Amino acid sequence: MIRPQQAPVSAALPGSLCSHDAPMIRPQWRHHWPLWLLAAVLLGVGLGGWIDRGERSAVGRLRPPSQPANPMVPIQPPARPRWVSPLVRSCQSGDPEQRLRLEQRLRALRSSVATVQIHPTNYGQRFQRDVFGRRLDSRPQLVVLHETVYGIGSAINTFVTPHPSDNDQVSYHALIGQDGSVVQVLDPSKRAFGAGNSAFNGQWVMTNPQVGGSVNNFALHVSLETPLDGEDNAPTHSGYTPAQYDALAALLAEWMARYPIPPEHITTHAHVDLGGERSDPRSFQWAELNTRLQNLGSLCG
Ligand SMILES: [Zn+2]
Repeated sequence: MIRPQQAPVSAALPGSLCSHDAPMIRPQWRHHWPLWLLAAVLLGVGLGGWIDRGERSAVGRLRPPSQPANPMVPIQPPARPRWVSPLVRSCQSGDPEQRLRLEQRLRALRSSVATVQIHPTNYGQRFQRDVFGRRLDSRPQLVVLHETVYGIGSAINTFVTPHPSDNDQVSYHALIGQDGSVVQVLDPSKRAFGAGNSAFNGQWVMTNPQVGGSVNNFALHVSLETPLDGEDNAPTHSGYTPAQYDALAALLAEWMARYPIPPEHITTHAHVDLGGERSDPRSFQWAELNTRLQNLGSLCG
């Protein structure tokens, strides 16, 4: 992979010595050819040694451990347990009343959804290549569930505020209020800054050699508004409303139909986070989501 960087150096130097300098040697200097030969040998040894060191660095195996990692050698995420989805595939339909309600919800979502314009510092474009030059499939292929901790208004206020510092930039694609309202914060085609250092089933995308990879390039992020009794760091709270589970199921059904997202690729921030600091969404009831997705037919197949 480092060949394109090496090629101009090794190709240019011999060319400049042989093709241009040699014909310019004047006849009166020719009787000093032993000195020229010695100089050429010494230069050749030095040049050869330089190229050799460069190629060893490219391979990476012979580099002294004190040197920084070569950014051209792809780096894999640390080994972590694979995601075991709590969602169960099934083609059985359930409560007809619930199905009718969810189908109405899905139709409403498809016809119109509230949107908010957030500040460009808080999101980006999906990358087509990673930092190693490899082509990426930037279609959404994963959904990461979050919670807001504070109210939905506080989250929106954060997203519309300019954040010049990388550490403060954050966004999700959608927010779901306790009353079941859905706010599209970012078009799914954009890259939300929903998870920092993160990976899913051994997959991440590294776009900056100075920091670890993340799932953001192939993820959609949705966050549930936390109830008032969850505005702290406690491990649990009173949970989410039936209206929130309805809205989440409808939104996920829409995304799963539009993108290549299987049920097994719906996960949590707590699972993908490599820093071990995230535990959201706390108190999430997978059975509530499972029932609704099954009723919408999104778990069939
Ligand atoms: Zn989160």
